[in-house]
Amino acid sequence: MPSPRPSGATAARSRITAEYVAGCDGAHSRVRSELGLTFRGHPYPQEWLLADVLLDWDLREDAAHAFFRPDGLPAIFFPMRGHRWRLTLPFAGSRDGQAPRLEEIQRLADERAPRPVTVSDPTWLATFRCHRRSASAYRRGRVLLAGDAVHIHTPAGGQGMNTGIMDAHNLGWKLALVASGRAPSALLDSYGTERRPVAEDVLRLTHALVRYGSTSHPVKRLARDIVVPALGRSTAIQRRAARRISHVYVAYPPGPLGRQDRGRGAPGAGQRMPDIQVRAGGLATTLHGVLRQGRHVLVVPPAHEANVLSDSALRPFRAHVDVFTGGVRKPVLVRPDGHVAARGRARQHARDNRLSDRPVRRTGWSAVRPAAYAVRAASTARTTDSAASTAMTAFRHAMPGRYRRAAAAWKSRATGL
Ligand SMILES: Cc1cc2nc3c(=O)[nH]c(=O)nc-3n(C[C@H](O)[C@H](O)[C@H](O)COP(=O)(O)OP(=O)(O)OC[C@H]3O[C@@H](n4cnc5c(N)ncnc54)[C@H](O)[C@@H]3O)c2cc1C
Repeated sequence: MPSPRPSGATAARSRITAEYVAGCDGAHSRVRSELGLTFRGHPYPQEWLLADVLLDWDLREDAAHAFFRPDGLPAIFFPMRGHRWRLTLPFAGSRDGQAPRLEEIQRLADERAPRPVTVSDPTWLATFRCHRRSASAYRRGRVLLAGDAVHIHTPAGGQGMNTGIMDAHNLGWKLALVASGRAPSALLDSYGTERRPVAEDVLRLTHALVRYGSTSHPVKRLARDIVVPALGRSTAIQRRAARRISHVYVAYPPGPLGRQDRGRGAPGAGQRMPDIQVRAGGLATTLHGVLRQGRHVLVVPPAHEANVLSDSALRPFRAHVDVFTGGVRKPVLVRPDGHVAARGRARQHARDNRLSDRPVRRTGWSAVRPAAYAVRAASTARTTDSAASTAMTAFRHAMPGRYRRAAAAWKSRATGL
């Protein structure tokens, strides 16, 4: 939850000097305003109320319940632990930010829920105003923004925290490489390029949820009230919705930091790698545990381990990549934030030889090699202004046919910031 801003009276002040600043200072971000960035978007009308309460009613506790009145005033009940519920009441008038009393929550619940419900024992009563906004840039020089400082939206779907955490995850490893001098600062541009589309998607989805949840248009209401419950009964759709709202679905587009491949099945390049069991030496652990070290991880099938480890092509990258065996059919290079950078192929292609002056062995590693160049570009290139351009050179050598399309897509995303 957003915390109150520190007041001038209580906040301790000290001066520090830092090479980089990550502004994670919430919706009212001072860092954003010091940068002079605009926070484009719009407010939603009226204030919303929130109450964490006990409920006495006859509905299931293992499901969220949303009630939509014909006049467009909804009430949403989310189950929490210990028989508690979070009750959200959008469009509850204007009250100058004054927190509601339990009696008001009871009255609104009576008005908006179509069945008897008694609220009691509140642990949190709040009022807030919703906005849909995003900052005009994620980075300005050595200052970066993350979380609510760079995007805000309604709590529909409860996605604000995950979006901010994933911003931090995406930014953290890049900032670590750049701040320690192991990568040029151009690597930081990929942060906004990758994260902005995710945040824009969240803004679109949360806006759509509010619009359809509060429509008073009779035809739209009818469609919503028939279609949504029908779709909601499908397990496939439930699974898809859960993946989208939990952000497990987030995939970064191919580019210098994620090499596209033609392989089938998930996870593909850019997608999130699940937390599989992995092993190195005698150590058995999980991939997500290993990724906490903040380094790239190459997961190889156990049968390929010896070949990969003895492959001289791997040597230049060993300082930057940890190698583990795991239940994968092909080698998979995983970024420190858990997204796939590249997958190997079972069959080798002659053009992979262009990256090496020695014959490619049938280990599957060679297909990962171009992406490893990208890792090296991201982690070691100092002579060039742009890690991206170094990585793209490797990418072009590896995949001449696709280079032009990928480069054009990358460029349009980068310039679309
Ligand atoms: C009512 C409500 C319900 C929500 N429900 C959900 C939900 O169910 N699920 C979900 O995922 N998200 C939810 N969200 C959104 C979620 O709370 C935010 O997206 C998330 O807290 C953003 O995290 P943040 O770290 O970017 O910003 P914040 O949580 O706002 O943290 C910013 C921090 O910066 C500090 N700060 C600010 N200015 C300064 C300064 N000048 N100097 C020093 N420190 C400063 C603040 O004190 C604070 O600690 C909800 C939001 C609201 C308003």
